[in-house]
Amino acid sequence: MASGGVSYRNGSALKSSMKSSSPSLNSTPKTSLKSRASAAPNPSYGGLRRSSSGSLGGGGRDDTGVPGRVRVAVRLRPRNAEESVADADFADCVELQPELKRLKLRRNNWDSETYEFDEVLTEFASQKRVYEVVAKPVVESVLEGYNGTVMAYGQTGTGKTFTLGRLGEEDTAARGIMVRSMEDILADISPETDSVSVSYLQLYMETVQDLLAPENDNISILEDPKTGDVSVPGATLVDIRDQQSFVELLRVGEAHRFAANTKLNTESSRSHAILMVHVKRSIKGKHDRELPLPNENGNASLLVKSFKPPIVRKSKLVVVDLAGSERIDKSGSEGHTLEEAKSINLSLSALGKCINALAENSAHVPVRDSKLTRLLRDSFGGTARTSLVITIGPSPRHRGETASTIMFGQRAMKVENMVKIKEEFDYKSLCRRLDIQLDKLIAENERQQKSFDDEVERLRADAEIRIAEAESNYAKALENERLKYQKDYTESIKKLEEQWLMNQQVRGGDKKVGTRDEFLDKPCSQEGSKPSSSEEIAEVKQLLQNEIDLRQSAEEEVVNLKSQVVQWKKLEAAGNAEIFNLRKLLEDEAGQKVKLEEEISILRSQLLQLSFEADETRRGLDGVGPGKAFTGLDSLMSQVRHLQLKDSENGQKASVAKLFEQVGLHKILSLLESEDADVRIHAVKVVANLAAEEANQEKIVEAGGLSSLLMLLRSSEDETIRRVAAGAIANLAMNESNQELIMAQGGISLLSITAADAEDPQTLRMVAGAIANLCGNDKLQAKLRGEGGIKALLGMVRSGHPDVLAQVARGIANFAKCESRASSQGTKMGRSFLIEDGALPWIVQNANNEASPIRRHIELALCHLAQHEVNAKDMICGGALWELVRISRDCSREDIRTLAQRTLTSSPTFQSEMRRLRIEC
Ligand code: ADP
Ligand code: MG
Repeated sequence: MASGGVSYRNGSALKSSMKSSSPSLNSTPKTSLKSRASAAPNPSYGGLRRSSSGSLGGGGRDDTGVPGRVRVAVRLRPRNAEESVADADFADCVELQPELKRLKLRRNNWDSETYEFDEVLTEFASQKRVYEVVAKPVVESVLEGYNGTVMAYGQTGTGKTFTLGRLGEEDTAARGIMVRSMEDILADISPETDSVSVSYLQLYMETVQDLLAPENDNISILEDPKTGDVSVPGATLVDIRDQQSFVELLRVGEAHRFAANTKLNTESSRSHAILMVHVKRSIKGKHDRELPLPNENGNASLLVKSFKPPIVRKSKLVVVDLAGSERIDKSGSEGHTLEEAKSINLSLSALGKCINALAENSAHVPVRDSKLTRLLRDSFGGTARTSLVITIGPSPRHRGETASTIMFGQRAMKVENMVKIKEEFDYKSLCRRLDIQLDKLIAENERQQKSFDDEVERLRADAEIRIAEAESNYAKALENERLKYQKDYTESIKKLEEQWLMNQQVRGGDKKVGTRDEFLDKPCSQEGSKPSSSEEIAEVKQLLQNEIDLRQSAEEEVVNLKSQVVQWKKLEAAGNAEIFNLRKLLEDEAGQKVKLEEEISILRSQLLQLSFEADETRRGLDGVGPGKAFTGLDSLMSQVRHLQLKDSENGQKASVAKLFEQVGLHKILSLLESEDADVRIHAVKVVANLAAEEANQEKIVEAGGLSSLLMLLRSSEDETIRRVAAGAIANLAMNESNQELIMAQGGISLLSITAADAEDPQTLRMVAGAIANLCGNDKLQAKLRGEGGIKALLGMVRSGHPDVLAQVARGIANFAKCESRASSQGTKMGRSFLIEDGALPWIVQNANNEASPIRRHIELALCHLAQHEVNAKDMICGGALWELVRISRDCSREDIRTLAQRTLTSSPTFQSEMRRLRIEC
């Protein structure tokens, strides 16, 4: 589901990197023969050239070829008279943007897909321009000595023959590519030395017929095993001297073609016409210098000037007007048996297969499967420069064929895009790689975590031990000190006491004896004390001093120990900081892991989407029946692989089924509820894409997709999700039983809320589209109105966007139609709900809207409303009568005009009002 019509679904759309900056399809800087030093083709020279053995053009005279690409232009035929009438009210199914080299293909009311081509030629493109863009560069390189192919592919009646084969005798401006090519060739060659000859063949039911000699009706194709060159020696080869004889030849060929086809009872659209123009040119004189033949020494510069070997360049221009690309009805209604139908189709489908194989770089290119691919082996993957013009018509009725033609063209040009699709595998392997990496990281993380924990533990234990050690050391040291002091102290006291006792004894008992304390207190106050006592004092002083010293040193030790403790604490803190850092590292790692996981889940969802696209494509191969919606990638594939499928028995089918199983719908639906917004967006887009296919709608609903989508509408904050979900619901709402389910699950109120909240016109368009679809269900009228559906629809006209208005108008028309049906069956009696809900003023205002889709819907709505007499009065008051009268007179669509006239004449109320106003009907 794409807003603005840009496709994300088809990877090949819009992503082409082949935009050529040069004005013409194959244009190369014009290189003259003179400046060309060797036989190497110029760089932009066409052809998916592959040197592998799988190449369509296996044999190689041009081993030194420069890679080129098949250039593809798309040309739109103008509406023809029948389409102008029948499709008058419908938009063309394609919209061209030539300046962007883009083409938009409408899928339905909501959807379009955009494709890029090398050149986009509008319905106004002149034949001259088409020639210059598509064929001239090829003709130029044929004149330079290369093979070239110009081919037209498309549905019958889209202008292949117009583009290639018009003779333009009455009107020179109408000349087609064949005639113009020959003019350029004849103008460039020298009649004395060069020659041009032509054969003209038809290929029908794997038989090659000579259009220049009709009796020659089974020509064989020869391949030179050495050079790989393909030739048809049995074909008549006519020398061409002047333009007139060539045109005459084409006319003869055309007449024979007609006769042959009448005889074979087929139309020319079933056969391929192949014009081969052989150009033979002599290169002499001055060219010798540029095309030196190395002598035996390999020294080219010594080339003998006088040696002038005759050099002939033989090149070939092949112009192919392919059979109509539409599928042949195998039921035999065209008078073919099944075998015939297969055979008629064979060459075209084989061509498709080869192009597919080349585009996918597949190892095997089934060139030998058909005569056409054998004849064209040089044109695709060979050495020729190839231009393809795909022709399409504008009619929406042929949308399927147009789409398949476009896909054929995309295939033919999109080698790069095939490389992108290979990314599908890259995604898978990337996913696998990331998984492995993730596992490694997880393991590594775990290991690191463990060793961090161990280290932390070790540091802590270490620190604890050291702290305990320091503390016990400290305590021990303190204790030792204390003991030492105690000991010293007791010793000194003891000494003092001994001394004191000695003193007492010396002095004798007569002397007044002071107390020991007195002695201690006043050791120096004793005047006239003997020398011995002063010695004692000195001794005591010394002792004291010692003690003081000891204490000081003890204190120092304490300080020292304290500082050691501080040191340990610091160490511990450092340890903690390290632990903290390690933790942080761990957290970072964990964050990274989460990111990787997110990335993986995004990749997975992309992978899912890719797988789905691949699945879609492959399912397309399983034979999408006629009339079914065209599935994104291409029906070309289906056409092309149809036979392959059969050939490879059930193997391929089984793998398709497996793929489908692998990426089951349930899985996708479960992703709608993913935590990850990106995944949700991807998932809802995938679901929306699936919902665009009628074939999937039932499955989606069965698997609960509708409820999930409604839930997204209810709960999602994201505009994109809501837009895409609404689109998906709109698609699901195309089906009647789904409409009832949507209503039953409260869809109307959810859509109404979305309608009221949304600003984006694309969201509104989707919502309006969904409601419009519901409006067309007879059973849901009352409920839809009761739950505010009409009000919601009318509310959206505020957007003013024509796409939104068109959907609103469609809804109103649908609703009015159901009401008029109900009233004619007598099940609706009262006034129209549309009128009751106030729709009339808007209807009247827009009844003549300049946008034709809006106008048509409104006109129909008015006619339907007018059919119920009970509405007539309101309609007259609201001015609707005037509009009805206008419609009955001027509407360009006859059926609506008649309907309006009939309605007006059958309503007594309108009749009397008209009489009153003197309006004639
Ligand atoms: P095809 O060869 O693809 O079956 P034709 O070349 O026969 O289609 O074209 C079908 C009809 O459409 C012819 O009447 C042709 O004149 C007309 N037609 C095709 N292309 C154009 C164009 N670009 N402009 C005008 N008329 C065209
Ligand atoms: Mg034709």
